[in-house]
Amino acid sequence: MAKVLDHVHTWMRSPRDNQYYLCRDPHCSTKKHRKDLNGKASICNFCGAEFVLTWTELDYAKPKCMNCSKSKEAQHFRELTAQIANVVTPRPNPDEVMEQESTQPFLDLTSDDIELLEDASGEKSV
Ligand SMILES: [Zn+2]
Ligand SMILES: [Zn+2]
Repeated sequence: MAKVLDHVHTWMRSPRDNQYYLCRDPHCSTKKHRKDLNGKASICNFCGAEFVLTWTELDYAKPKCMNCSKSKEAQHFRELTAQIANVVTPRPNPDEVMEQESTQPFLDLTSDDIELLEDASGEKSV
């Protein structure tokens, strides 16, 4: 019987074939073609956080999460999540909420932005 998957793979490009990625877990010998990894959950090679692989990251030997990536898309993603955190963070003093309501930052998401966030959270339906 096949071993049950008990971890999210940490992908590293195969030194022998750059179309393939290998799991870095010493107990795991999973190998996949990069086209099968787009949209799949993975562990960041740099910070260990779980994230969803995209074609952008599948160009790298060691894919990394949005927080570690220097790509334009990742920077945009960080700005968006910071904006959202700003908007949804409850204010400590309820009296101040009334006064400051009009100064709430305006969150203007385009459909591209929403898609990006959905991709990253891995909840996009297929
Ligand atoms: Zn693995
Ligand atoms: Zn990371």
